[in-house]
Order: sequence, then C-alpha cells, then structure tokens
Amino acid sequence: MSNSYPKSILLLSLVFISSFGFAQKSKNSKTEALKKEVINALEAKSKTAQEMVDMTFSFSELGFQETETSNYLTNILEKNGFTIERGIGGIPTAWMAKWGNGKPFIALGSDIDGIPKASQKPGVAYKEPIVADAPGHGEGHNSGLPLVILSAIEVKKIMEREKMAGTLIIWPGVAEELVGTKAWYIRDGYFKNVDACIFTHVGSNMGVSWGDAGNNGLVSVEFKFEGSSAHAAGAPWRGKSALDAVELMNIAWNFKREHLKPTQRSHYVITDGGDQPNVVPSKASVWYYLRERTYEDIKSMYDEAILYSKSVAAMTGTKVSHQLLGTAWPGHFNKPIAETVYKNIKTVGLPTWDTADQQLARAVQKLVNAPKKTQRGEPIDGLATKIDTLNGPVQFSSGGGSDDIADIAWNVPTVVFRYPSNIPGTPGHNWADAISMATPIAHKGVVAGSKVVAATLLDMLTNPKIITDAADYHKNVQTKDVKYIPFLEPSTPAATHLNKKIMDEFRPQLKKYYYDPTKYKTYLEQLGITYPTLEKKGTE
Ligand SMILES: [Zn+2]
Repeated sequence: MSNSYPKSILLLSLVFISSFGFAQKSKNSKTEALKKEVINALEAKSKTAQEMVDMTFSFSELGFQETETSNYLTNILEKNGFTIERGIGGIPTAWMAKWGNGKPFIALGSDIDGIPKASQKPGVAYKEPIVADAPGHGEGHNSGLPLVILSAIEVKKIMEREKMAGTLIIWPGVAEELVGTKAWYIRDGYFKNVDACIFTHVGSNMGVSWGDAGNNGLVSVEFKFEGSSAHAAGAPWRGKSALDAVELMNIAWNFKREHLKPTQRSHYVITDGGDQPNVVPSKASVWYYLRERTYEDIKSMYDEAILYSKSVAAMTGTKVSHQLLGTAWPGHFNKPIAETVYKNIKTVGLPTWDTADQQLARAVQKLVNAPKKTQRGEPIDGLATKIDTLNGPVQFSSGGGSDDIADIAWNVPTVVFRYPSNIPGTPGHNWADAISMATPIAHKGVVAGSKVVAATLLDMLTNPKIITDAADYHKNVQTKDVKYIPFLEPSTPAATHLNKKIMDEFRPQLKKYYYDPTKYKTYLEQLGITYPTLEKKGTE
C-alpha cells in the first residue's frame, strides 16, 4: 500500500515516526533517570524507615484500636503536606491522606493491626514476650504503611519539581485480621475516583501476582442467643439455655462439614458461654468465619448458618440475632500493574542479608520447625536470596485464607506487592512471626520494598498506558463475567467495638515499651537485645 504514496509523504512520515520514537525513547530514559534518583533517595532514608517500623511495632495495637499507630503515621503525612480525612467509614482509626493534582489517582495501602497474644521481643530466637499475653505484630503489619509512606514522600518531591499531574492517596488496612474495613471503604465510596491501587503486604520474598489468587473469601458473623436464666440445680426446667443453642448450632455445623466442598474453611469461637455453671446461661454467642472460593458459595454457607441459628433457637426456646463483623471477596489482581511492579522488583532486587540476619532466620526456622520446602517446592533455608517469579492465575486451589484487599481489587485495579521483611517458613499469625519485625531484616525489606513502590509510581505517572491497560484488564477480563456483589447492607456498621477490652487491658503496660527514638538508635537497643540472640542463657 505504501507504494501508492508520493515519496515526500513517505519521507515525512518516516521523519515523524522516528522523531516520535525518539520522543518516546527520551521520555523512557527520563523516567528511568527519575526512578534511579528515587531509589537512591530511599536508600538514604534507611534510618527513617527503621524508626517508623520500630515505632509501629512497639505500639502493638489490635484491629479497630490502632489509635497510636494512626496518630503517629498521619502526623508524618501531615508534616509532609498530605491532607488527612480522619474517621472514614465511621471507623475512628481509619483515614485517608491525599496530596497532588488531578489524574491519575493512585492509592497506596497496607494493613496496620496486630495479632492477639503475639507480643514478642524482636531479634530473639525463642519465645520471650515484651508483655505476657499482650498483642503483638505476629503478622508484620507494622511495616507496610511505613513502606508506602516513605515511597510517597520521595515521589511527591519529584512530582513537585517536575510539575507532574497525579494524586497520591495513602490509606490503612484497619482491622485486616478481622477483615473488618475494606468492604466498608468501598461501600462508602472512598475508592470511587481511584484509578489504581498498589497494596503492600509483608512477606519473606519480593513478589506480586495477577489473576485469581486462589484464596477464599469469607463472611465473619456473630450469632447471639438470648434465653432465660434459672437456678441450674433448683429449677433447671424453668431455664432456657442460650448456651444449649450455641452448642447445638456448632454440632449441626460440624455435621454439615461432610456435605461442604473441600475448598470451604469454617471455624468458630464461643465469644460468650455464660457466666457460671449454677446459672442457666441467658446469653451466649458464637462467632463464625465462613470461607469459600466464590461469592455464591460463601453466600450459600452464610444463608445456611442463619437458617441453622434460627432452627436451634426454635429448639431451645431462645431468640437469636446475628451481626456481620467482617467480609472479604476471593482475591483477583491486576495484570498490567503486576507486570509493572515485577519489572521494578527485578531492578531493585533483594536486600543484602548479613551473617546476623541469616543466623536469626535459621534459628527461627529451627524454632518453628519450618518445612524444608515451600508449597511450590523451593527450599526454605535462611532468608530469600532469589526473587520470586511473576505468578499468574492459579490453575487449581484447595482454598485458604482471606484478605479484604480483594474488595478493593474487585472495584479498582489493584495488586498486592510482597516485600521481604519476614523469615520464610514461619507459621503466620503467631508470636514467632514477630521476631524479625523490628530487626534489620524488616528494615532492609521495607527499604527495598519502598524502592519498588516508588519506581512503580513513577512508571504510572509518566506512562498513562499503564493506567488505561489496567482499567481495560479490570473491565474486560476481571469483571467481564464476575460482578462484585457486597455482603454488606447499606446500614451494616463496622464492628469497631472489637478488641477494645483487650487493648484497654494491655495498653497501659505496652506504653512503657513504646519506642523512644530520641534516646535509642533502635528498638533492639532500647530493649537491651543483642542482635541476634539465638539461645536463651542459662537454660541450655
Ligand atoms: Zn496480613
């Protein structure tokens, strides 16, 4: 066809094509230069990273009670020019920080809550709580928001200087352990204008994936029964036991397990079993997590559980009510964003671990009796030294845990970027998972992770195609056949009462151990811990 064009037009178009190519190339090299600059700037922020990670670790706050954590982090953001909206979704410890001008709107998030009974001295390879039975960062949620805040502050400096358009939004995953807030943020419209979301989560390697993540979604629901009390020996025939209802409900559910799909997970704790044996319990309650791989299967378990609760109420002459305390969809993540993140993972690479880091990691692996291989067959021996591969949709899944980041991801193009601040082979949700979380392992992992997030932000801000490709994948692949249906009603309140009693009990004791960076270089120094401490003295 080009044969029919006059030579001059051909020539002209050649010039145009090559100059466009040149402009594109110089734009790319400009972005690469900015990325290099931000990576160097973040390396110079290692001290700030350590302080933020250690400080958040020392607060040790459980879901919905992250008051110190949220105050501390929003103060840093405010000092750096971000505008904070507090108490979003009616959740006192939730907030959204914004800075910038116009599109794209890029949200950066991470969880901030701890685990019950996970208090643990960092850098010590045996069980030694800071405060016995107190909460602690046994999931490593003290590291992710410091990471994204560091990235955002450094990228903001470049955006200001280069007069780049774009809005950075920082937000916390409050009460992730209760899957208690992200669906509420979506319901209340906080992500309406967001173009892309980079979520970070602690891991033991650098990684990101796209497509069906293979995990389960869930509903977290509490059933409360009310009967009437009576003297348990004098007139038991006059009592209607709420505890009977709870026990019958659990028995019924345990029989039902046989007829559920192998992908389901369901578990419960009795949150109220009565007061004392000689009083027929007039009140009792049980809290269920019901997990499955699809919305339809979760919904079906949820409906059945409600039916069972009503049935056992009828059997025991009690009344029942239920409250949705948390919810999450199964995960599905964005391909174009994951690919962009992965390129930057390859550029940044894993941190350089030293002998002390590796010694601690191996001692912890021995302590927790870590498996010798990952589920994908890679050896577990010390800290990761080879970056993970970029993984696509799972081919087969037998189900697993849940994370309410999925509710964001079904509404906004999202990825979860994992950074290496923890030790491979730990059990998760355990005090042993807190051991590395205020040590050089966590600090180095956060600095490396912040570089990946910052570089990805610069890619997104300078190359609009990433944003349009991400939107295209979200619309035409991810949500083509599967449409997000929330489990929340418009009026379902967030369960902000959870964990209050526990934090009220432990906060005064934990306060004595809050990190003071004006006096101590590190939290390890403040606690008088030699890094690493591999064995307990005098007990061997
Ligand atoms: Zn988590």
